[in-house]
Amino acid sequence: MSKALQAEGKFAEIPATGLLLTEASPDVRYYPFTQHQEKSVGADWLWWWIDTTGTSFGLLTQAKVLRRQGPGWHIDFGYRRRKTEPTQIDKLLASSSAFDAPAAHVLYCGTPAYRRGLECGLAHPDGANCRDRERAGVSIVLSIVAQELMPSAGRNAAAEAFHWASPLEDIADPSRPQPTLQPLAPVHPDIADFMRNPQVGARRIAKIMLDPVHGIRLGQYSAALSDEADHIEDAVFSPLPTDRGHFSVPYLAHVLGGLRHQPPGYVRDLLAGRTPPRWATESVAGIVVIRDPEPIARDVVVPVELNNATANRRLELVHPKDDERTEAAC
Ligand SMILES: [Zn+2]
Repeated sequence: MSKALQAEGKFAEIPATGLLLTEASPDVRYYPFTQHQEKSVGADWLWWWIDTTGTSFGLLTQAKVLRRQGPGWHIDFGYRRRKTEPTQIDKLLASSSAFDAPAAHVLYCGTPAYRRGLECGLAHPDGANCRDRERAGVSIVLSIVAQELMPSAGRNAAAEAFHWASPLEDIADPSRPQPTLQPLAPVHPDIADFMRNPQVGARRIAKIMLDPVHGIRLGQYSAALSDEADHIEDAVFSPLPTDRGHFSVPYLAHVLGGLRHQPPGYVRDLLAGRTPPRWATESVAGIVVIRDPEPIARDVVVPVELNNATANRRLELVHPKDDERTEAAC
Protein backbone atom coordinates (compact mmCIF):
# COMPACT_ATOMS: atom_id res chain seq x y z
CA MET A 1 0.00 0.00 0.00
CA SER A 2 2.84 2.40 0.75
CA LYS A 3 4.31 1.70 -2.72
CA ALA A 4 0.91 2.17 -4.39
CA LEU A 5 0.47 5.43 -2.45
CA GLN A 6 3.91 6.60 -3.61
CA ALA A 7 3.30 5.68 -7.24
CA GLU A 8 -0.40 6.44 -7.68
CA GLY A 9 -1.51 8.32 -4.55
CA LYS A 10 -4.15 5.62 -3.86
CA PHE A 11 -4.74 1.88 -3.51
CA ALA A 12 -7.68 -0.33 -4.41
CA GLU A 13 -9.43 -3.36 -2.93
CA ILE A 14 -8.88 -6.03 -5.58
CA PRO A 15 -5.11 -5.58 -6.10
CA ALA A 16 -4.63 -5.19 -2.33
CA THR A 17 -6.46 -8.48 -1.66
CA GLY A 18 -4.47 -10.21 -4.42
CA LEU A 19 -1.20 -9.03 -2.90
CA LEU A 20 -2.26 -9.94 0.63
CA LEU A 21 -3.11 -13.52 -0.37
CA THR A 22 -0.11 -14.16 -2.60
CA GLU A 23 2.29 -12.74 0.00
CA ALA A 24 0.68 -14.75 2.82
CA SER A 25 0.85 -17.96 0.76
CA PRO A 26 1.81 -20.74 1.43
CA ASP A 27 1.11 -20.18 5.17
CA VAL A 28 -2.33 -19.11 4.07
CA ARG A 29 -3.93 -21.24 1.34
CA TYR A 30 -6.45 -19.69 -1.00
CA TYR A 31 -8.77 -21.23 -3.57
CA PRO A 32 -10.17 -18.77 -6.13
CA PHE A 33 -13.49 -19.58 -7.84
CA THR A 34 -14.52 -18.37 -11.27
CA GLN A 35 -18.34 -18.30 -11.07
CA HIS A 36 -18.51 -15.66 -8.37
CA GLN A 37 -21.72 -13.58 -8.30
CA GLU A 38 -20.66 -10.74 -5.99
CA LYS A 39 -23.50 -8.46 -7.12
CA SER A 40 -26.16 -10.64 -5.54
CA VAL A 41 -24.16 -11.95 -2.58
CA GLY A 42 -22.30 -8.80 -1.49
CA ALA A 43 -19.28 -10.83 -0.35
CA ASP A 44 -15.90 -11.52 -1.83
CA TRP A 45 -13.79 -14.03 0.11
CA LEU A 46 -14.81 -16.56 2.74
CA TRP A 47 -12.09 -17.12 5.32
CA TRP A 48 -11.77 -20.20 7.52
CA TRP A 49 -9.25 -20.60 10.33
CA ILE A 50 -8.74 -24.29 11.14
CA ASP A 51 -6.65 -25.24 14.15
CA THR A 52 -4.91 -28.50 15.03
CA THR A 53 -7.96 -29.79 16.91
CA GLY A 54 -10.10 -29.30 13.79
CA THR A 55 -12.00 -26.47 15.49
CA SER A 56 -12.74 -23.87 12.82
CA PHE A 57 -13.89 -20.28 12.62
CA GLY A 58 -15.37 -18.73 9.48
CA LEU A 59 -15.75 -15.13 8.31
CA LEU A 60 -17.57 -14.00 5.18
CA THR A 61 -15.69 -10.90 4.07
CA GLN A 62 -15.98 -7.84 1.86
CA ALA A 63 -12.87 -5.71 1.22
CA LYS A 64 -13.01 -1.93 1.54
CA VAL A 65 -10.53 0.92 1.35
CA LEU A 66 -10.34 3.62 4.03
CA ARG A 67 -10.36 6.76 1.87
CA ARG A 68 -9.61 10.34 2.70
CA GLN A 69 -12.61 12.46 1.73
CA GLY A 70 -12.29 16.22 2.17
CA PRO A 71 -11.42 16.85 5.81
CA GLY A 72 -12.75 13.45 6.89
CA TRP A 73 -12.63 9.75 6.03
CA HIS A 74 -14.93 7.45 4.14
CA ILE A 75 -15.51 3.70 3.76
CA ASP A 76 -18.15 2.79 1.22
CA PHE A 77 -20.10 0.41 3.47
CA GLY A 78 -23.48 1.42 2.01
CA TYR A 79 -22.50 0.88 -1.65
CA ARG A 80 -25.28 -0.07 -4.08
CA ARG A 81 -25.41 0.07 -7.84
CA ARG A 82 -29.00 1.30 -7.96
CA LYS A 83 -31.15 3.06 -5.42
CA THR A 84 -33.77 0.33 -5.80
CA GLU A 85 -31.51 -2.49 -4.63
CA PRO A 86 -30.34 -3.35 -1.09
CA THR A 87 -26.96 -2.04 -0.01
CA GLN A 88 -23.91 -4.28 -0.30
CA ILE A 89 -23.62 -4.51 3.51
CA ASP A 90 -27.25 -5.71 3.80
CA LYS A 91 -26.60 -8.35 1.11
CA LEU A 92 -23.41 -9.40 2.88
CA LEU A 93 -25.22 -9.87 6.19
CA ALA A 94 -28.04 -11.81 4.50
CA SER A 95 -25.44 -14.08 2.83
CA SER A 96 -23.61 -14.57 6.10
CA SER A 97 -26.66 -16.19 7.63
CA ALA A 98 -26.75 -18.63 4.67
CA PHE A 99 -23.17 -19.64 5.54
CA ASP A 100 -23.81 -19.45 9.32
CA ALA A 101 -20.58 -17.43 9.52
CA PRO A 102 -20.26 -13.84 10.70
CA ALA A 103 -19.79 -11.10 8.10
CA ALA A 104 -16.74 -8.87 8.28
CA HIS A 105 -15.17 -6.02 6.38
CA VAL A 106 -11.47 -6.31 5.59
CA LEU A 107 -10.26 -2.70 5.62
CA TYR A 108 -7.23 -1.54 3.69
CA CYS A 109 -6.10 1.46 5.71
CA GLY A 110 -2.68 2.40 4.30
CA THR A 111 0.26 3.50 6.42
CA PRO A 112 0.30 5.55 9.66
CA ALA A 113 1.49 8.50 7.51
CA TYR A 114 -1.56 8.07 5.23
CA ARG A 115 -3.84 8.09 8.30
CA ARG A 116 -2.28 11.24 9.77
CA GLY A 117 -5.06 13.50 11.06
CA LEU A 118 -7.64 10.71 11.42
CA GLU A 119 -9.71 11.55 14.51
CA CYS A 120 -12.02 8.76 15.62
CA GLY A 121 -13.25 10.84 18.59
CA LEU A 122 -13.30 7.75 20.83
CA ALA A 123 -11.36 7.05 24.03
CA HIS A 124 -8.00 5.21 23.85
CA PRO A 125 -7.56 3.69 27.31
CA ASP A 126 -4.05 2.44 26.52
CA GLY A 127 -3.01 5.98 25.53
CA ALA A 128 -2.06 5.08 21.95
CA ASN A 129 -4.17 6.67 19.21
CA CYS A 130 -5.72 4.01 16.96
CA ARG A 131 -4.50 5.80 13.80
CA ASP A 132 -0.86 5.21 14.84
CA ARG A 133 -1.13 1.41 15.11
CA GLU A 134 1.73 0.07 12.99
CA ARG A 135 -0.11 -3.11 12.03
CA ALA A 136 -3.45 -1.49 11.12
CA GLY A 137 -2.77 -1.41 7.35
CA VAL A 138 -5.03 -4.43 7.00
CA SER A 139 -7.69 -4.48 9.71
CA ILE A 140 -10.93 -6.41 10.17
CA VAL A 141 -14.19 -5.14 11.60
CA LEU A 142 -17.38 -7.15 11.91
CA SER A 143 -20.01 -5.85 9.49
CA ILE A 144 -22.66 -5.60 12.24
CA VAL A 145 -20.36 -2.99 13.85
CA ALA A 146 -20.08 -1.03 10.58
CA GLN A 147 -23.83 -1.31 10.03
CA GLU A 148 -24.57 -0.05 13.54
CA LEU A 149 -22.16 2.90 13.13
CA MET A 150 -23.58 4.07 9.78
CA PRO A 151 -26.63 5.81 11.34
CA SER A 152 -25.23 6.44 14.83
CA ALA A 153 -21.82 7.90 13.86
CA GLY A 154 -22.91 9.44 10.53
CA ARG A 155 -19.98 11.12 8.79
CA ASN A 156 -17.58 9.74 11.40
CA ALA A 157 -18.62 6.10 10.74
CA ALA A 158 -15.45 5.28 8.77
CA ALA A 159 -13.12 6.63 11.48
CA GLU A 160 -15.08 4.84 14.22
CA ALA A 161 -15.13 1.58 12.23
CA PHE A 162 -11.36 1.89 11.84
CA HIS A 163 -11.09 2.40 15.63
CA TRP A 164 -13.03 -0.79 16.35
CA ALA A 165 -11.24 -2.82 13.64
CA SER A 166 -8.57 -5.31 14.71
CA PRO A 167 -5.29 -5.37 12.76
CA LEU A 168 -5.02 -8.69 10.91
CA GLU A 169 -1.47 -9.18 12.19
CA ASP A 170 -2.70 -8.78 15.78
CA ILE A 171 -5.47 -11.33 15.12
CA ALA A 172 -2.79 -13.71 13.84
CA ASP A 173 -0.50 -13.17 16.85
CA PRO A 174 -1.21 -15.74 19.62
CA SER A 175 0.97 -13.84 22.13
CA ARG A 176 -1.34 -10.78 22.17
CA PRO A 177 -3.09 -10.34 25.52
CA GLN A 178 -6.73 -11.38 25.44
CA PRO A 179 -9.60 -9.40 26.90
CA THR A 180 -11.80 -10.69 29.71
CA LEU A 181 -15.39 -10.33 28.54
CA GLN A 182 -18.15 -10.36 31.14
CA PRO A 183 -21.48 -11.69 29.82
CA LEU A 184 -24.25 -9.07 30.10
CA ALA A 185 -26.97 -11.61 30.81
CA PRO A 186 -26.82 -15.21 32.00
CA VAL A 187 -25.41 -17.42 29.22
CA HIS A 188 -24.52 -21.12 29.04
CA PRO A 189 -21.55 -21.81 31.39
CA ASP A 190 -19.41 -22.88 28.40
CA ILE A 191 -19.98 -19.51 26.70
CA ALA A 192 -19.28 -17.64 29.95
CA ASP A 193 -16.03 -19.60 30.34
CA PHE A 194 -15.07 -18.82 26.73
CA MET A 195 -15.69 -15.11 27.29
CA ARG A 196 -13.83 -14.86 30.59
CA ASN A 197 -10.78 -17.04 29.96
CA PRO A 198 -7.88 -17.03 27.43
CA GLN A 199 -8.49 -19.15 24.34
CA VAL A 200 -6.25 -20.78 21.74
CA GLY A 201 -6.58 -21.64 18.06
CA ALA A 202 -9.81 -20.91 16.20
CA ARG A 203 -11.53 -20.12 19.51
CA ARG A 204 -9.05 -17.28 20.07
CA ILE A 205 -9.84 -15.81 16.64
CA ALA A 206 -13.58 -15.89 17.45
CA LYS A 207 -12.96 -14.21 20.80
CA ILE A 208 -10.88 -11.40 19.25
CA MET A 209 -13.65 -10.75 16.73
CA LEU A 210 -16.25 -10.73 19.52
CA ASP A 211 -14.34 -8.26 21.71
CA PRO A 212 -15.23 -4.97 19.91
CA VAL A 213 -18.87 -6.04 19.46
CA HIS A 214 -19.08 -6.77 23.17
CA GLY A 215 -17.47 -3.36 23.91
CA ILE A 216 -20.07 -1.55 21.80
CA ARG A 217 -22.91 -3.62 23.32
CA LEU A 218 -21.83 -2.45 26.79
CA GLY A 219 -22.62 1.13 25.72
CA GLN A 220 -26.08 0.31 24.39
CA TYR A 221 -29.01 0.98 26.68
CA SER A 222 -31.28 -1.99 26.25
CA ALA A 223 -31.95 -4.89 28.54
CA ALA A 224 -29.79 -7.93 27.80
CA LEU A 225 -31.77 -11.07 26.95
CA SER A 226 -30.83 -14.58 27.98
CA ASP A 227 -33.09 -16.47 25.53
CA GLU A 228 -31.48 -19.06 23.30
CA ALA A 229 -31.43 -19.32 19.50
CA ASP A 230 -31.59 -22.19 17.05
CA HIS A 231 -29.02 -24.93 16.70
CA ILE A 232 -26.24 -24.56 14.06
CA GLU A 233 -24.74 -27.79 12.74
CA ASP A 234 -21.34 -28.58 14.32
CA ALA A 235 -21.38 -25.31 16.31
CA VAL A 236 -19.01 -25.35 19.29
CA PHE A 237 -21.64 -23.52 21.36
CA SER A 238 -25.25 -24.50 21.03
CA PRO A 239 -27.81 -23.19 21.63
CA LEU A 240 -26.65 -19.58 21.26
CA PRO A 241 -28.01 -16.46 22.99
CA THR A 242 -30.51 -14.22 21.17
CA ASP A 243 -29.51 -10.92 22.80
CA ARG A 244 -29.09 -8.31 20.04
CA GLY A 245 -28.82 -4.90 21.75
CA HIS A 246 -28.96 -2.32 18.94
CA PHE A 247 -27.38 -4.66 16.39
CA SER A 248 -29.45 -5.98 13.48
CA VAL A 249 -28.92 -9.61 14.50
CA PRO A 250 -28.29 -11.48 17.79
CA TYR A 251 -24.61 -10.61 18.02
CA LEU A 252 -23.35 -13.54 20.14
CA ALA A 253 -25.13 -16.07 17.93
CA HIS A 254 -23.86 -14.25 14.81
CA VAL A 255 -20.20 -14.37 15.89
CA LEU A 256 -20.09 -17.66 17.78
CA GLY A 257 -22.18 -19.45 15.11
CA GLY A 258 -19.00 -19.26 12.99
CA LEU A 259 -17.10 -21.39 15.51
CA ARG A 260 -17.40 -25.10 14.61
CA HIS A 261 -16.06 -28.44 15.79
CA GLN A 262 -14.87 -29.09 12.21
CA PRO A 263 -14.69 -27.13 8.93
CA PRO A 264 -17.91 -27.24 6.90
CA GLY A 265 -18.32 -29.77 4.08
CA TYR A 266 -17.40 -27.36 1.26
CA VAL A 267 -14.04 -26.60 2.98
CA ARG A 268 -13.40 -30.33 3.58
CA ASP A 269 -14.07 -30.80 -0.16
CA LEU A 270 -11.39 -28.24 -1.02
CA LEU A 271 -8.86 -29.76 1.36
CA ALA A 272 -9.49 -33.21 -0.12
CA GLY A 273 -9.05 -31.88 -3.68
CA ARG A 274 -12.77 -32.15 -4.52
CA THR A 275 -14.84 -29.37 -6.10
CA PRO A 276 -17.21 -27.83 -3.53
CA PRO A 277 -20.93 -27.59 -4.38
CA ARG A 278 -22.00 -24.89 -6.81
CA TRP A 279 -23.94 -22.83 -4.26
CA ALA A 280 -20.64 -22.26 -2.43
CA THR A 281 -18.43 -21.57 -5.45
CA GLU A 282 -20.97 -19.11 -6.90
CA SER A 283 -21.32 -17.20 -3.65
CA VAL A 284 -17.74 -16.07 -3.10
CA ALA A 285 -14.63 -15.11 -5.07
CA GLY A 286 -12.85 -17.89 -3.26
CA ILE A 287 -12.06 -19.49 0.07
CA VAL A 288 -9.07 -18.62 2.24
CA VAL A 289 -7.90 -21.40 4.57
CA ILE A 290 -5.61 -20.53 7.45
CA ARG A 291 -4.44 -23.86 8.84
CA ASP A 292 -3.00 -24.23 12.25
CA PRO A 293 -3.39 -20.54 13.20
CA GLU A 294 -1.37 -21.47 16.21
CA PRO A 295 0.11 -24.63 17.60
CA ILE A 296 -1.34 -26.83 20.32
CA ALA A 297 -0.72 -25.23 23.71
CA ARG A 298 0.40 -27.44 26.55
CA ASP A 299 0.88 -26.24 30.07
CA VAL A 300 4.40 -26.92 31.28
CA VAL A 301 6.15 -25.78 34.40
CA VAL A 302 9.38 -23.92 33.79
CA PRO A 303 12.10 -24.93 36.32
CA VAL A 304 12.42 -22.45 39.15
CA GLU A 305 15.66 -20.50 38.83
CA LEU A 306 17.94 -20.28 41.87
CA ASN A 307 17.32 -16.59 42.50
CA ASN A 308 13.67 -16.63 41.53
CA ALA A 309 11.27 -17.65 44.25
CA THR A 310 8.23 -17.56 41.97
CA ALA A 311 7.72 -20.28 39.45
CA ASN A 312 6.66 -18.85 36.09
CA ARG A 313 4.01 -20.84 34.36
CA ARG A 314 4.52 -20.71 30.65
CA LEU A 315 2.73 -22.09 27.65
CA GLU A 316 4.88 -24.33 25.57
CA LEU A 317 3.74 -24.09 22.01
CA VAL A 318 4.28 -27.16 19.85
CA HIS A 319 3.88 -27.23 16.09
CA PRO A 320 2.91 -30.86 15.56
CA LYS A 321 4.04 -30.92 11.93
CA ASP A 322 7.57 -29.61 12.15
CA ASP A 323 8.40 -29.88 15.83
CA GLU A 324 9.39 -26.25 15.83
CA ARG A 325 9.15 -25.09 19.43
CA THR A 326 8.63 -21.61 20.76
CA GLU A 327 7.67 -20.25 24.13
CA ALA A 328 5.22 -17.51 24.92
CA ALA A 329 4.67 -15.93 28.30
CA CYS A 330 1.38 -17.03 29.81
ZN1 LIG B 1 -9.59 5.47 17.92
